[in-house]
Amino acid sequence: MDRKIMQSPSCKEGAFILDKYNMRIAVLALQGAFAEHRQKLAQLGVDSFEIRQLKDWDQEKDGLIIPGGESTTQAKLLNELGLMEPVKKAIAEGLPVYGTCAGLILLAKKIEGEPSKRIASMDITALRNAYGRQLGSFYVEAPIKGIEGNIPMTFIRAPYIKEVWGDAEVLAEVDGKIVAARQGNQLVTAFHPELNDSLEIHKYFLGMCKK
Ligand code: GLN
Repeated sequence: MDRKIMQSPSCKEGAFILDKYNMRIAVLALQGAFAEHRQKLAQLGVDSFEIRQLKDWDQEKDGLIIPGGESTTQAKLLNELGLMEPVKKAIAEGLPVYGTCAGLILLAKKIEGEPSKRIASMDITALRNAYGRQLGSFYVEAPIKGIEGNIPMTFIRAPYIKEVWGDAEVLAEVDGKIVAARQGNQLVTAFHPELNDSLEIHKYFLGMCKK
């Protein structure tokens, strides 16, 4: 199916966006805020589909989003459903991936004091629930490398990145703590852009997914 012709010709803005992002993104939908990511992609005219079980994985995709939620639950389900190895392999082979919050934790090679089986593909050390109880949830606007202007950032029982090494690069810091990083085809944020109005982080990720 040619997705370019799904949009009415009178909808110029939509047609423009579809031309710009003619791609299909997989969203891991085992638990957490996956629907909000799909909504953001839809606002950008981008097709997406949910990964709920192993058979969903075989569909063609230009990128993968791992949403926020509970990293231990998502890791357990990824393992139980047989999705862990195919996801790891695809990322290692270059599939663009964006991990939000719990997704960041799943992609981190190291987590302080947390040995559970994860994707562990990115050269970062994550600290879970790093802001403590008092500051469990908060909102700031801060700059990100590669994006113009300040980006709204909503943190919910968020991790932060204690350290990056190897090929991982820091993209944003808030109060001296690393909250966004990139390593080639992999992007992570400790905050939830899917919960704010800005589309900038999703646009940035789609830029990484372009063929
Ligand atoms: N605290 C959660 C965890 O450790 C992450 C929170 C989130 O994704 N908003 O998995």
